[in-house]
Amino acid sequence: MSARMIDGRAVARGVRRKVAEAARRLRAETGVVPGLAAVLVGDDPASATYVRMKGKACEEVGLHSKTVRRSASISEPELLGLIGELNADPTVHGILVQLPLPPQIDTRRVLIAVDPSKDVDGFHPVNVGRLVAGDLESGFVPATPAGIMRLVAETGIQQKGAEAVVIGRSDIVGKPTALLLLHAHATVTICHSRTVDLPAHARRADLLVAAVGRAGVVTKEMVKPGAAVIDVGMNRVDDPASERGYRLVGDVDPSVVEVAGWLTPVPGGVGPMTIAMLLDNTLKAARRAAETPVRQAAERAR
Ligand code: NAP
Repeated sequence: MSARMIDGRAVARGVRRKVAEAARRLRAETGVVPGLAAVLVGDDPASATYVRMKGKACEEVGLHSKTVRRSASISEPELLGLIGELNADPTVHGILVQLPLPPQIDTRRVLIAVDPSKDVDGFHPVNVGRLVAGDLESGFVPATPAGIMRLVAETGIQQKGAEAVVIGRSDIVGKPTALLLLHAHATVTICHSRTVDLPAHARRADLLVAAVGRAGVVTKEMVKPGAAVIDVGMNRVDDPASERGYRLVGDVDPSVVEVAGWLTPVPGGVGPMTIAMLLDNTLKAARRAAETPVRQAAERAR
């Protein structure tokens, strides 16, 4: 048997198309153009590339985007002041603070300063709390886990009652993905670096999510025949034959294709979904902002 590949690029294109249509309608009906502000501190080339990609993706679907750059020597009060300005800016509906931040800055304090209604990354404790409580409507679900769930939906597998195993427990991928699967009524196991006998847990999974950051950590012996395997990992491995000298691979060994029922490729699986879902969250934030005066007026009239 050979796994069916889940084409993240195609699914992401569909999401972007819907965002573009909805943004056009919102603009026509209310004059509101959804806006995303990215805060980029320092000159880390990888962070700059991510922010550029997000900005380009915004422009392509008719969202307004701006990047606010600050030097790596910025103080915490200055950065908090900037977040305050963006919170108050009515043209900005989504704020993302590109991580990592320099060591003099307390990242948690900065993320908490973002207005939860503009927290399109879903990192603010208010939005984390909503996710824990299963309120997926009022807040923002972090983009990568939201994208993972879209790809799982593509397989058509029954999530209710399924054995789901998530390898990785980070705040941005593993934990939120496990919560989303739990809310979808899967029986969820979370594995991590201290898990004893990872293969035994993984082999039980009808749905296996690998979010580790180690090439080939999931081997075919760890996969139940027919399982859906979502590979979140993005690992650079040396490749002298490639122009860049490296290539990107996932956490899942290529031999898994022989046993899995479904598999996401790397690249072209979860990666494209992350940006698409960020656009979707920004649209959601703008729609809510456009509705707010109407809602307030309705509440006053009651
Ligand atoms: P992270 O914060 O480093 O978390 C990695 C997790 O894997 C940790 O929970 C760690 O356990 C666990 N782990 C490490 N080694 C393990 C092992 N041998 N066996 C079992 N568990 C192990 O990473 P992350 O931010 O979640 O990202 C994970 C991967 O996804 C990375 O490759 C990253 O580049 C990629 N990623 C991709 C996208 C995308 O858009 N495609 C988005 C985000 C992340 P402990 O908690 O015990 O340390």
